[in-house]
Amino acid sequence: MTGCGSCDMIIKNIEKKYYNKLKEKGIVLVGGAVNLDDEEEVNKIKEIRKNAKILIAVGSCAVSGGFQRMLIGLENGFPQRFVRVGDVVKVDYAIIGCQPDEEEVERVVKAVIENDSQTLKPYEIIAGKPIIDAYMKVNEVLLTSNKELCLGCDDKPINDEFCTGCGTCVAKCPANALTIDEKPKVNISKCIKCGTCFFNCIRVKEAL
Ligand code: SF4
Ligand code: SF4
Repeated sequence: MTGCGSCDMIIKNIEKKYYNKLKEKGIVLVGGAVNLDDEEEVNKIKEIRKNAKILIAVGSCAVSGGFQRMLIGLENGFPQRFVRVGDVVKVDYAIIGCQPDEEEVERVVKAVIENDSQTLKPYEIIAGKPIIDAYMKVNEVLLTSNKELCLGCDDKPINDEFCTGCGTCVAKCPANALTIDEKPKVNISKCIKCGTCFFNCIRVKEAL
């Protein structure tokens, strides 16, 4: 699909390592956003889905449209033309990250092979809904008593009340949009809304 190719490198490594198991279980990993103007690409993802028993979207572009949707799409005036894979076909599990950790992708693949539903739960939630709904789902748990919402697209990845200030989100941000003093802060003008900070936050992972 349409992306910078770094998720494809991760996918290739995993495919090499788990080739037999992936084939046996019908597990397919896909990276990149879908360009709705590219008929070949749309047909390709439909064909992939048809032949896959389990489809895993890898990386922010595949999961949310990522920077393809937010930057390239916007520059061309058609942000809606670059969509997440889940907008075109059903996705079973989604791994956010720009790019995601290869170890995390491997952990998910192993969990699918071993039918480890506990490990897979957050990835299933993220796959099932547009990313903003996934944020909402998590925030049902993270909401403070005053019902203040933080959607990861505000000026902080999560509510300060829950944040431990560990800095993981700052280290993971692909756009250098985060700075940290005691708690992280988002520079909105740099943020590409990939969701990497939010979904890599240990507190969010606990909540899912
Ligand atoms: S601050 Fe923005 S660009 Fe950085 S990881 Fe979070 S959502 Fe992505
Ligand atoms: S990863 Fe989560 S807990 Fe750690 S600093 Fe970022 S928002 Fe706070």
